Amino acid sequence: MTAQPLCSVSVDVDTLRFYHDIHGLPAPSADQTDAIYTHAMPRILQLFRQLGIRGTFFLIGEDAHVPAHRAILQQLVEEGHEIANHTQHHPYRLTVLSPEEMEDEIAQAESTLQPFLRAGQRIVGFRSPGYNTHPYLLHILRKRGYRYDSSVFPCAPYYLAKATIMALMQLRGRPSRALLGSPKVLLAPHHPYQPSDDPHTPHKAPVHSDIWQLPIAVVPGLQLPLIGTSLLLYPAPLVQTMLHLALRQSPFLNLELHALDFFDAYNDPGASALLPHQPDLRLSLTRKIQRLKDAFLTIQHTHRFLPIAETLPVAQSNGL
Ligand SMILES: [Zn+2]
Repeated sequence: MTAQPLCSVSVDVDTLRFYHDIHGLPAPSADQTDAIYTHAMPRILQLFRQLGIRGTFFLIGEDAHVPAHRAILQQLVEEGHEIANHTQHHPYRLTVLSPEEMEDEIAQAESTLQPFLRAGQRIVGFRSPGYNTHPYLLHILRKRGYRYDSSVFPCAPYYLAKATIMALMQLRGRPSRALLGSPKVLLAPHHPYQPSDDPHTPHKAPVHSDIWQLPIAVVPGLQLPLIGTSLLLYPAPLVQTMLHLALRQSPFLNLELHALDFFDAYNDPGASALLPHQPDLRLSLTRKIQRLKDAFLTIQHTHRFLPIAETLPVAQSNGL
């Protein structure tokens, strides 16, 4: 029997200070209430509720210390969404930290986020900031019993664009605090796999209970990124073509959004300095929500939405 194709919608809840970091701008401090939580997150939850989507939210541990963010975290769990680990402080240079610092980033986020989970639940998923991974990071995740990592984004156009922008910023004397990451990512599979010691390479003899690597969606053939930013910025007919190509060929679609995709930069507080640097912020909120809703409705024709952790038994039985 063939299982129904699945789609996991994941949301990286990166707060505004990290976009300031990427663009080399002065950033707000970590203890301030952030409009990503108070303004964007309620919109995501509302849309997911409306369409019956349960998703996966990759959360930064230290954001959970801010009182105004805590009610949203509780609501996420109450509404059946998965909470996953996006590190304690979201260091873009995670993979060049010492082994102890790397593990601290993962362990601290676990203990900060764990109190929000239901009794008996634990965090089983991880995504690295900036899609950068490393054999030692994978080793830590295995050691700590994680069931999946979703840090690999095997998309050549994205990698080249990031390299170009970072080089230009360096030339202009305003270097980005992002990290480009290993070019090995360009050779990684586009489908879920159980990795060897290297997170970009499948294991030759997969072990049933071992960790999975779930690469972020790339359109087969066109090799374009299938992420929130492309759903918002590419022409609508191209987005529909991309979705149809991906849905036809992917029994599991790992669709990554950012909470920023639901942000209204003209009316929500805290993003005015980012407006000249992020074209997606200049779209109207109504248009953005409509674009994302259209994509979800297209996906729903063939694929069932489930949080990432709940797709893993299916991935194992299908040998995806
Ligand atoms: Zn992030």
